[in-house]
Amino acid sequence: MHEERVIGVDLGGTKVLAGLVARDGAIGRTIEIPTPGGTPDEVLRAVDSVVDDLLADGAAAIGYGVPLNIDRRTGVALRAINLPLHDVHFPDRARARYSLPAGVENDGNAAALAEWRLGAGRGASDLIMLTLGTGVGGGLVIDNRLYRGWAELGHTVVVAGGAPCQGNCHGHGHLEAVASGHAADRVAAELYGPAAGAPLLVERARGGDEHARDALAEIGRLLGIAIGSLTNIFDPDVVVVGGGFGAAAAELILEPALAAARGEAIEPADTTLRIVQAELGEEAGLIGAALVGFEALDGVR
Ligand SMILES: [Zn+2]
Repeated sequence: MHEERVIGVDLGGTKVLAGLVARDGAIGRTIEIPTPGGTPDEVLRAVDSVVDDLLADGAAAIGYGVPLNIDRRTGVALRAINLPLHDVHFPDRARARYSLPAGVENDGNAAALAEWRLGAGRGASDLIMLTLGTGVGGGLVIDNRLYRGWAELGHTVVVAGGAPCQGNCHGHGHLEAVASGHAADRVAAELYGPAAGAPLLVERARGGDEHARDALAEIGRLLGIAIGSLTNIFDPDVVVVGGGFGAAAAELILEPALAAARGEAIEPADTTLRIVQAELGEEAGLIGAALVGFEALDGVR
């Protein structure tokens, strides 16, 4: 038996990252494959294939971090903004297929759980996590507990009547529409042509290009406005910013974000608010998914 090791599955809009993870967050073998763009069945088959492969090494449970809203009462993953999946009960599927304990959590919540337990948010009793990737995910720790609700912090309005949001979201000016990697792709294309994306924008800004620096500072400012509002609601000890784009652009966006957030925050957060970079990098989602697997193993939920 491998009781101290579970499989974490981080299902994203562009890739599936799965791996064997120990209780302390140490990651063993991992597998990464592109997320199929086709039917729901194709996506689920891809998820099953990486779990099948890892299970050959032995694992005691499975945890899934998925970009879907999850019904807290039934555990059903209801719908996704950026994936053609709906109404999937991941733990039931896993129990039927593998006869192992299994759990599921929204990917933003899973990342928040990981950063709180093992990363930049250790010791905080109240925490806000924002993951800036293709979209913007989020999670909350309130009074030393992960909030299990939707926490779709990426769909906070920051520009009234602004740019249309992504995927299945019909809102406008949401944080995801203005401060995600996808939003940075759009800005890069406007500045440098249709082939340019967020990586080039970050590279140019680091090289001193004023237009690129200004564009990323504006993305940071909009991020900060959202953080200011969230701070006024949840009074966090710390705000953790992660995700692929969030990590790549941290040095360029977090300072303007802090200035804008403190500008909106009620005292004393207008001077004490902290925004820090996530510590677990692109593995936060994987580790968080695994922690959900350990919760299922321990019968916590
Ligand atoms: Zn939205």
